[in-house]
Amino acid sequence: MPFTDSQLSWPRRKLRPAVREMCRTPLDSTEASSRGQPMATSRCRNYNGVEAVDGPPAATTPERSRNTSGRPRQGFSVSRRRLEAPGGTCCNGKIHGQGSGMTKYKTTLLAAAGVTAIALVALRAGEPVVKPPDARPSPRAAKSQTDRAMTYSKSGYSITPLSAERIDGLATSLTPDERRVLLDSGTERAGCGTLLDNKEEGTYVCRLCGLPLFSSAAKFKSGTGWPSFFQPFDPVHIHNKRDLGHGMVRVETQCARCRSHLGHVFDDGPDPTGLRYCMNSAALRFFAKGVELPSESRPIPTETAYFAGGCFWGLEDRLQQVPGVISAVSGFMGGKNDKTSYKEVCSGTSGHAETVRVTFDPKQAPYRKLLEWFFKFHDPTQLNRQGPDVGTQYRSAIFVDDDEQLKLAAGYVEELQRTDRFRDRKIVTQLEKAGVFCEAEEYHQDYHEKHGGSCALPTE
Ligand SMILES: [Zn+2]
Repeated sequence: MPFTDSQLSWPRRKLRPAVREMCRTPLDSTEASSRGQPMATSRCRNYNGVEAVDGPPAATTPERSRNTSGRPRQGFSVSRRRLEAPGGTCCNGKIHGQGSGMTKYKTTLLAAAGVTAIALVALRAGEPVVKPPDARPSPRAAKSQTDRAMTYSKSGYSITPLSAERIDGLATSLTPDERRVLLDSGTERAGCGTLLDNKEEGTYVCRLCGLPLFSSAAKFKSGTGWPSFFQPFDPVHIHNKRDLGHGMVRVETQCARCRSHLGHVFDDGPDPTGLRYCMNSAALRFFAKGVELPSESRPIPTETAYFAGGCFWGLEDRLQQVPGVISAVSGFMGGKNDKTSYKEVCSGTSGHAETVRVTFDPKQAPYRKLLEWFFKFHDPTQLNRQGPDVGTQYRSAIFVDDDEQLKLAAGYVEELQRTDRFRDRKIVTQLEKAGVFCEAEEYHQDYHEKHGGSCALPTE
């Protein structure tokens, strides 16, 4: 039975657009009849006497309560990035980049449009197009290129898709049953899985590639005969895919890293998400709490950096797009007290600067590379302001975590000061020892991603 609009309002909104469309479209008669072939996977009648494929739709289990709390539901894989709109509203509703900065920005856009037009003409004429040497590096383009090479979840795991060769290699360790479930989208018999009644504390990882998929804290007794969870370990560790098998429209779940079949997700789970991840035991491997996880199930080694460069909405958005950055979080640092709030910071009495905490993979994004991006994302010559945002909370500062970062940051500022860009302008960026980072209120996090818009970059 397909999900109705009300049943899937939140999950569908969060699903990738293509999958969203899949869920909205009911099966037509042609599609349904084409799916009328005998089921290739295991079926049984030992779940309340009802013939079932893994996770029967809610309509066949009326005894199950639906989530009617109206709370947001979490857990679907979300594409982090959105389309970029240059310029935009930011910081107390002000428009970034007005005045001379905006004029220069518009000039840059016009120049870019001109280059594009020339390129199109050249293409039509069959002539080679040479990239202009002064084209500004785009963090989004760089991220896009790196995404193909290395992708991370916010919880610090590599979710870079594995190659077919790597998957073939890993698959040699699978039993025939595991292979049928993981690689051939099979379903184990209800009530037969080895992890169904497991009540130990620990982590459930992908049987094939080891990516953590669920925590025991999210496991619940669903009564369906399959291990059930109300939320994944990390939303982006699960890939959702429309499944039209067996005359139903369902959402199949796959491991985001190796794309193995795991089970399905339904919207009749308990609070707080209202979701039920119906899994095959054969697709999972359990590690009890305290047992050392294999390397493929551990987060990658990361480092932390702190940058302040005006409004944290824009800086966070930009830094999040830098290749090798795992997460960027908006907050405050450099103030008198260890705790503060946006309201207090805005009053100008706390001494904090709007700061972005960056967790990064030093192998992909060395600290020096982050420094380079940071100085492209703001104007370090403006004292206690960035464009229309005025006050010490908008000061340019680098909060260093250790002596190595201090050495690199000081050296880079010195190097930058000697360049033509800053020949007649003094860099006023403060270098301070990192103190307590106060995470900003939730509504400040991923602000541009949630609401659109972006901050204009300073011209070079
Ligand atoms: Zn996997």
